[in-house]
Amino acid sequence: MYNVNHLAKRLRSASLGREDATFLQNHQTGETISYGAFFANAERMAAVLVAKGLVVGDRVAVQAPKTQAMLELYVGAVLAGVVFLPLNTGYTGAEIQYFLEDATPKMLVCASANLEALTPIAVAAGVAEILTLDADETGTLVEARGGMAAGFEAVPCGADDLAAILYTSGTTGRSKGAMLTHRALASNSAALADYWQFTAEDVLIHALPVFHTHGLFVATNITLMSGASCIFMAGFEASAVVAAMQGATALMGVPTYYVRLLETEGLAAASKGMRLFVSGSAPLLAETHERWRDVTGHAILERYGMTETNMNTSNPYVGERRAGTVGFALPGVEVIVADAAGVEVPRGEVGILEVRGDNVFAGYWKMPQKTAEELREDGFFITGDMAVQDADGYISIVGRAKDLIITGGYNVYPKEVELLIDAVAGVVESAVIGVPHADFGEAVVAVVVADGDVDEAGILAAIAPDLARFKQPKRVIIVDELTRNAMGKVQKKALRERFAGVMG
Ligand code: AMP
Repeated sequence: MYNVNHLAKRLRSASLGREDATFLQNHQTGETISYGAFFANAERMAAVLVAKGLVVGDRVAVQAPKTQAMLELYVGAVLAGVVFLPLNTGYTGAEIQYFLEDATPKMLVCASANLEALTPIAVAAGVAEILTLDADETGTLVEARGGMAAGFEAVPCGADDLAAILYTSGTTGRSKGAMLTHRALASNSAALADYWQFTAEDVLIHALPVFHTHGLFVATNITLMSGASCIFMAGFEASAVVAAMQGATALMGVPTYYVRLLETEGLAAASKGMRLFVSGSAPLLAETHERWRDVTGHAILERYGMTETNMNTSNPYVGERRAGTVGFALPGVEVIVADAAGVEVPRGEVGILEVRGDNVFAGYWKMPQKTAEELREDGFFITGDMAVQDADGYISIVGRAKDLIITGGYNVYPKEVELLIDAVAGVVESAVIGVPHADFGEAVVAVVVADGDVDEAGILAAIAPDLARFKQPKRVIIVDELTRNAMGKVQKKALRERFAGVMG
């Protein structure tokens, strides 16, 4: 029944005939949902979309709490050939207005608490249907689902058809809608499930948000495609995650999760039976990697990806998981470290990472020029991440190209300075940024979180022997914490704005 639909077929194949097997344990409600029941509900969701007039290629925008109904709607959209467009729950009305006007979805699903504020915005943007979905699995969407029968015949969709549009976090300029095809999502999740050796025996702790690639595609698609089950949590709460480890095998998280878990009682004992800890979406400090191994005996497996490309590289499942690196290109993915013209640089030199493969997106929604700037004709996508490959082929991300600091004409890669500062006793973590400077154009400034007795002069003295003069920070500013977004990424743009005036 799902065979005509490229992605739906693959999401369903591992669970066919295992209808009673558990797909999801809802941590919030305590309910368990079987594969049979989950897909029946997804079919009902597809029927809702069709009944509301959505046809192949139409968009359904969703800004709603993390619920199992949201996953059903995602799979329902795939079944109906409708493009799923999840939105960060943190976005305000003004931001939502931009997304609705840009993507012109036919339907919006939102939390009932936001219905009043979002209705006029949605109506003005031409949205025909507005339904609600709340954290307790209620709302008009769930009511509509209840009125539908299961057994929806999947709408034919090929590998090149769009399955989703995910807006990038927009740290530079306007947020762009990355168009993700059935092929991109299906191929990447299959590669990851295989590489990380997921099977139907796995129980994944799912604590990530489902409006982002990591929680929606990596975590959810891998679970479905391997016929595994997940413990589905509304959000990340360290003690709940530690408690859940007793009945689980794998965890996917952003680096901040691991830092917080290390501060949580009972981690060492609870993690014993786990087989895999995956980290991504932001750089994992080598120190966190090492502390985790000391406490739990497990080496965190770090991988690297982005909204536009899904996952590109991963440390090996079998073999050395090297701290501070993101491993090797995944099977089916080509990765090169190149100069601005796209020519590969020698090993050991910093360049910009470019990626090609089935995992790569089809372009930015309604932005052909942006697409042409970043997606080369030969299929390579210019990620904008600066990287270096070591002698054994392990790739390290050393920063974003836009974060590169040019001071007095010299290039400074923030990561190089950050690694040295992070190694100073008493330093927890650091972010190195460029701020306007009258003589040098930009000056190197370090923003540092400390838990020990360190100060500006001490840090500068400690790193000076290992760092060329022009790379040494002109100021070290101690703060309580670094500004981060929901995915644990340090917001360098916010730091640059905050400290723009420090050089006078
Ligand atoms: P997003 O599109 O929100 O998923 O952000 C993607 C960006 O996150 C990438 O372009 C990288 O800059 C960063 N990123 C993701 N995973 C890692 C990682 N393991 N190490 C360093 N940076 C990462």
